[in-house]
Amino acid sequence: MQLLDGKYVSEKLKQEIANEAAEVLANSGRKPHLVAILVGNDGGSETYVASKMKNCEKVGFRSSLVRYDETVSEEELLAKVEEINQDPEVDGLIVQLPLPKHIDPEKVTEKIDHRKDVDGFHPINLGRMMRNLPCFIPATPYGILLMLEEYKIDTAGKHCVVIGRSNIVGSPMSILMARNSNPGNCTVTLTHSRTKNLEEIVRSADIVVAAIGKKNFVTADMVKEGAVVIDVGINREISTTTKSGFKLFGDVDFENVAPKASWITPVPGGVGLMTIIGLLRNTLASAKKEIYK
Ligand code: NAD
Repeated sequence: MQLLDGKYVSEKLKQEIANEAAEVLANSGRKPHLVAILVGNDGGSETYVASKMKNCEKVGFRSSLVRYDETVSEEELLAKVEEINQDPEVDGLIVQLPLPKHIDPEKVTEKIDHRKDVDGFHPINLGRMMRNLPCFIPATPYGILLMLEEYKIDTAGKHCVVIGRSNIVGSPMSILMARNSNPGNCTVTLTHSRTKNLEEIVRSADIVVAAIGKKNFVTADMVKEGAVVIDVGINREISTTTKSGFKLFGDVDFENVAPKASWITPVPGGVGLMTIIGLLRNTLASAKKEIYK
C-alpha cells in the first residue's frame, strides 16, 4: 500500500501557486483576491472557511470574509453577491454551504458571476465541464484529479466506482473520470443511496471514490485487492483526546482497507487538503484570466 499524501502534494502545489501569485502581483500590482461569504455559525463551515482564508494568505493571495447572522434574508444575501460580482478587485467568490433553510442555495449559486465562481458550482461551469471546455472545476474533484496526476495513477480504461451523487463531489467526479482526458478515460459507475448490489459493484472497482458522509462505510470486504481508494468523507466526532475537541474520520475503514489497496488517501491529510488546492488554483486562474477573458 502506498499513501496518496495530501499533505505532501498540497505543500508542493502551494509553493507553485505562491510563485505564480507573486508574478500576478508583479505584473498587475495586485494580489489574486478571494471573497468568502459565511452565513451563521456552523462549526464545520467555520473551520473550512478559516482554513481557506489562512491558505490564501499563505500563498500570497488577498482574502476577505463577509459574515452574516443566520437570520439574513435571501434578498440581502443576493444583493451582496451582486455587489461582489461587480467589484473589479475581486477574482473569486464562494458562498459556504450549507445555507439556512430559508435561503435557496440554487438561487445563490446561479447569482454568482460564473467568471468568479471558483467553487465551480454554477451551471455554466458545470455545463462547460461536461463538454470538456475550459471552466472552473468544483474544488474537491479538481483536488482529487491533481492528486492522481501528481502520483501518475493510470486511470485510462479502469473501472471507477463513485459512491455518492452530490452536486459538489460525486456527480462532477463521475463526469471528470469519464472524460477523454488524463486523469480520466475511466468506465464510471455512479452509485448512491438507491443503488442495488452496491457492495458487489464496489468490489469490481479499480478506483473507488467514497463521498457519502458515513464513517467506515467502505469496508475491506468491499474492496478489490490492488484498488486505488479515494476517501472524500469528513465525519466529525467529539473527542477528548484532541486539542480541537473533534476527531475526523473518513468514509473508508482505513485500517482494514489500506492493506488491500495499492494507493489510498488518509483522513485527515488527504482529499481535504487537496480541496483547498483546487480552490486556490481556480482563484489564480481567474486572476490571470486564463479561463474567461
Ligand atoms: P451529500 O451529503 O450531499 O450526499 C451524500 C451522498 O451519499 C448522496 O448522494 C447519497 O445518495 C449517498 N449515500 C448516502 N447513503 C448511502 C448509502 N447507504 N449507499 C450509497 N450511497 C449513499 O454528500 P457530499 O456533500 O458529497 O459529502 C460527502 C462526504 O464528503 C461528507 O462526509 C462531507 O463532509 C465530505 N466532503 C469532504 C470534502 C473534502 O474536501 N474532503 C468536500 C466536500 C464534502
